[in-house]
Amino acid sequence: MSNPNARIKKVKTHISQNEGLIFEKSRTGTRAFHLPVADVPAPAAEELVPAHLLRHDDLEGLPEVSEPEVVRHYTRLSTWNYGTDTGMFPLGSCTMKYNPKFNEWAARLPAIARTHPLAPEAAIRGNLRLIKELEDSLCEITGLDACSLQPTAGAHGELTGVMMIRAALEERGDPRKYILIPDAAHGTNPASAVMCGYKVITLISKPNGLLDLEALDKAMDDSVAGLMITNPNTLGIFEEDIAKACELIHSRGGYVYMDGANMNALVGVARPGDMGADVMHLNLHKTFSTPHGGGGPGCGPVLVKKELEPYLPFPTIKRNPDGHSSFDYDRPKSIGRVKAFYGNYGMMVRALAYIRALGPDGLRMATEIAVLNANYVRHHLENDYDIPFDGPAMHEVVFNDKKQQAFGIRNGDIAKRLIDYGFHPPTMSFPLVAPGAIMIEPTESESREELDFFIDAMKSIARECEENPDFVKAAPHNARLGRLDETAAARNPVLRWKPTEVAKAAAK
Ligand SMILES: *Cc1c(COP(=O)(O)O)cnc(C)c1O
Repeated sequence: MSNPNARIKKVKTHISQNEGLIFEKSRTGTRAFHLPVADVPAPAAEELVPAHLLRHDDLEGLPEVSEPEVVRHYTRLSTWNYGTDTGMFPLGSCTMKYNPKFNEWAARLPAIARTHPLAPEAAIRGNLRLIKELEDSLCEITGLDACSLQPTAGAHGELTGVMMIRAALEERGDPRKYILIPDAAHGTNPASAVMCGYKVITLISKPNGLLDLEALDKAMDDSVAGLMITNPNTLGIFEEDIAKACELIHSRGGYVYMDGANMNALVGVARPGDMGADVMHLNLHKTFSTPHGGGGPGCGPVLVKKELEPYLPFPTIKRNPDGHSSFDYDRPKSIGRVKAFYGNYGMMVRALAYIRALGPDGLRMATEIAVLNANYVRHHLENDYDIPFDGPAMHEVVFNDKKQQAFGIRNGDIAKRLIDYGFHPPTMSFPLVAPGAIMIEPTESESREELDFFIDAMKSIARECEENPDFVKAAPHNARLGRLDETAAARNPVLRWKPTEVAKAAAK
C-alpha cells in the first residue's frame, strides 16, 4: 500500500524550495551581455534595418537582468509547469501519454528539422517518403484506404471529413440537411457539422450509455447526410452495434464519420474501416504520442474509404512508378487545401518514430495496457466513487460525484484536492450525459506503482469528503496559489508579462 501522505509531503517540499520568489527582478543597469566599447561611430538604426521593419513600440521598462537571472527565471517557470514529463496526467479523452524522447531526437535531426517549406520537390523526396510511409501506416492501423495529414487538430480533421461527405453528396445531387450525433459526442462534432452547413439531430443514448439503434433507424432518412460517432464513446464504452449502425446508414445513402480521438483503445486490436466507417480523423497528439496542449502544433489526419478519396484536400502525396513520392495537385474533385504547406511536419515525424519504435506488436501491447490500466483504476475505485454507466471500461473510465454530493462536495472540489497529492486532475463534467463526471484516462504510460499512488490519493480524498468536507472544498492547500477564480481567468486571461508601473519607474 503506497502512502499518499508521504506523497503530499514530497509535493510540499518541492514547492517550499521555490517559495519566496518575486517576479519583478529588474535592477537598473543590469545586463545579460557584455560588448566591447565600439571604436567606430554607431550607424543610425535605419542604416542597419529597413525603416518599415524597425520597432517603434515602447521598449521602456523591459526587465534589466543578468544572464543567470534570465536562465533561472525560465528554468524555474518550467518546473512550475505540470506535464507528462513530471507526472501522471489522467485527463480523460485527451490521452495525455508520455512523449518518448526518441521521437524528439528524430524530429530534431537537421535534415528533417531544417527542411524549408518552400524547398523544391526534388530536394524533399525524403520528407515526402516519410509522410507517405506514415500515411500507409495509419491506413493499415485504421483499415481505411487513403489519408491526408494536412489537418492540424482533431476538430480540423472533423471539419475536413464532413466537408468531404458534403462534397460527395453534392456530386450525387443533394448534400442533404442533417447529421446525426449521439448526445455523448465531443462538442467539436456538432460544431464541425454546423460549420459545414448541416443541422444536428441529437441521438439520445440508451440508459447503458450506448447508441440506440431504434432511435437511429427512426432518424435516418434521405434528408440525413450521415452519422458522426465516437468509438469507444466518450463514456469509454465500446459501441457494440457499430457495424449494424454503419449498415443502416449506408443502406439509406449516408456516410459514417468516426471520431477517432479514442483510438488509444483500438490500435492494433480493431479497425474502424472494418466496422464500416467511411471517414475518420486521428489525433496524432493523443494516440500517437506527439506533444499537445497549450495550443501547440497538433496533427489530426483524415482517413477515408476509396469512395471518398477523390475529395481529399489537395495536394495529396502519390507514389510514382519510380518509387519516389510527389505532390499530386491534379485533384479536380478535391475540397481544396485545408492548411498552408503540408500541415505540421514535425508531428508526422514524431508519430512515425513512435509507430516504428513500437512495431505492430508494441502498438497492440500499448493498447492492451491502456485498457488494463483504466480497468485497474475502475476496479479499485468503484466502491469509493459512483459509476454512472455500467459497461466494461475501455481506455478510460467515467465516475461521478454522486456519493460525495451528500457531503456538499462537487467534482471540481475533488479535482482541486487531487492537486495537493501531486496529480493533474482528471477531466471534469464531460461528457455532459454524465453529470458531475470525473473522467480518468491513465494511459499505458503509468506503472503499477504510480497507478496505486493515484488510487490511494482518490481513496484518501473520498474519506476526507466524509470526514472533513470543508477542508476539501477549500483545496488546494499545497499549491503555489489557492483556489482561483476560474471564470475571471477564462474571461480576462493574462497571457503575457507586461512591465509594471514600478518597473517602468525604476527604469527611468
Ligand atoms: C480531443 C477530441 C477531439 C478534438 O481534438 P482536438 O485535437 O482537440 O481538436 C474530438 N473528439 C474527441 C472525442 C476528443 O477527445
